[in-house]
Amino acid sequence: MPCYRCGARQTDPVKGASPWKRGVRRESQVLICPDCQRLHDLDLDSCRTCGSTALICRLGEVECRACGAVRMARARAFAGSGAPPGLSAEVEAALNRVLGRA
Ligand SMILES: [Zn+2]
Ligand SMILES: [Zn+2]
Repeated sequence: MPCYRCGARQTDPVKGASPWKRGVRRESQVLICPDCQRLHDLDLDSCRTCGSTALICRLGEVECRACGAVRMARARAFAGSGAPPGLSAEVEAALNRVLGRA
């Protein structure tokens, strides 16, 4: 999986922990490369309990690795918006604005 922000590919694993960071953005699991981690506009989802962005997203749930809180992800796939699977959230949001559904 490439960096969600700049598209960089993860290089071969080096010894020790990977410098790449996992996060959740708009309820999708993403990877952030070391360069992009230095930016402050990553727009990651954060835990509603403790504010940490160390989240993992799995089937229908978002779990905080900092405090362990689990919440249900909004099941966008079942929302009946008519958007085909795979349409990006940005495009979907733009469509909603155009159609006055925001
Ligand atoms: Zn990046
Ligand atoms: Zn938390």
